[in-house]
Amino acid sequence: MGPGSVAREFVLQGLPTSVATLNTGARMPALGLGVFQSPSGAPTRKAVVSAIAAGYRHIDTAKIYGNEADVGAAVRESGVPREELFLTTKLWNDDQGYESALRAFEKSRVALGVEYVDLYLIHWPVRAHRHDSWRALSRLFREGKCRNVGVSNFTLHHLKELLQDAEVVPAVNQVEFSPFLFQRDLLKFCHANGIQLEGYSPLTRGRRLGDPTLVGVATAHGVTPAQVLIRWGLQHEVVEIPKSVDPQRIRENADVFGFELTPAEMETLDRLDEGLHTSWDPTSMP
Ligand code: NDP
Repeated sequence: MGPGSVAREFVLQGLPTSVATLNTGARMPALGLGVFQSPSGAPTRKAVVSAIAAGYRHIDTAKIYGNEADVGAAVRESGVPREELFLTTKLWNDDQGYESALRAFEKSRVALGVEYVDLYLIHWPVRAHRHDSWRALSRLFREGKCRNVGVSNFTLHHLKELLQDAEVVPAVNQVEFSPFLFQRDLLKFCHANGIQLEGYSPLTRGRRLGDPTLVGVATAHGVTPAQVLIRWGLQHEVVEIPKSVDPQRIRENADVFGFELTPAEMETLDRLDEGLHTSWDPTSMP
């Protein structure tokens, strides 16, 4: 099945059944665990094992996070069959380029200890190399080593450039996304072109959890501000990957299927947009 031949679809139900159907036909769990800044070794392994026990079936790592091997070890320890899990990793900037991307993918695959990766992303739109990197990822997709390939931190400009001559349409674009950085135009463009948007730093790394409007919505539903942020993203049909190393928070962040934000609450949250980038901002990348 070729990418682009399947209509993107997003189903929001309980934890295991909420999935985004990607343009390849693959099913990506709508909620995953992020492991950026999860220390390598026991903390990451414990976080991933806790998440899988809580029902997560999707883990988001990257070469630069330094914990791919721990994610792989935890997946094996969990006892859940590989084919039931969705594993994402990313091509780091120093490895961009055609041959170097192929080599970097192989290293990540071996570190994870898997036969294939569910999603491999270009981590950042490095100008000099992103075109060749995408050719490499397209090859990895054709060879089946990556079930899906995509990009991260691609703005409208970067995506339009890539789509001009790409033989493979990215399945996913992973970008920072929260009510405080509501990228409405990018969301519309991605979904109109069959590219699933995936939101990182959905909890604003904790920076806006005390926002009075957010707290008001959370109080009205008897849930936490973190749960409202995750639910808001899901209701916009965005795949969410909150990070925590704390088993109790990992469970809390997945307990977002028992309430629904009203259209008025969604609009109120949408209006919190202030262009907040909590880490890097790709809009300045030519
Ligand atoms: P998040 O917005 O997910 O916030 C994580 C922070 O919030 C941590 O300090 C965590 O602490 C805390 N936290 C988690 N749950 C709760 C809760 N329920 N209540 C209060 N605090 C909570 O930030 P990230 O930047 O980690 O983004 C999530 C994931 O997105 C990353 O882990 C990574 O996988 C991906 N990412 C991708 C990027 C890219 O360039 N492609 C860039 C940045 C992130 P604790 O762990 O102690 O619970």
